[in-house]
Amino acid sequence: MSSIPLHLHSDIDASVSCSHCDAVCCRLTVVVMPEDQVPRHLVERNEHGVEVMAHGEDGWCVAIDPLRMCCSIYDQRPGICRKFAMGSEYCVDEREIYRNRYT
Ligand code: SF4
Ligand code: SF4
Repeated sequence: MSSIPLHLHSDIDASVSCSHCDAVCCRLTVVVMPEDQVPRHLVERNEHGVEVMAHGEDGWCVAIDPLRMCCSIYDQRPGICRKFAMGSEYCVDEREIYRNRYT
């Protein structure tokens, strides 16, 4: 599984909207940093011993609200999630990868 990049730059595609997306960025690996205030039961260690957001069997972060496909811990979400910009290169790429794989 690929990770949300720590350093993001953005050429924003204004045609992209989270409201028309299956929150595919929430399928990426999110590293939890020491300063993050994420509920601990949502965090696990990966095979490299790094703390990451846990994922469910469906492939999405366990913090996703499955009915609304949005973050259920929005105010406590990790810093990496805060930096992930709608319409950015990474957003557009992940949407394309997901579309090719699942639709
Ligand atoms: S940031 Fe991009 S990938 Fe994430 S929910 Fe919004 S449109 Fe989808
Ligand atoms: S913490 Fe929230 S925004 Fe971040 S990946 Fe999980 S559901 Fe998505």
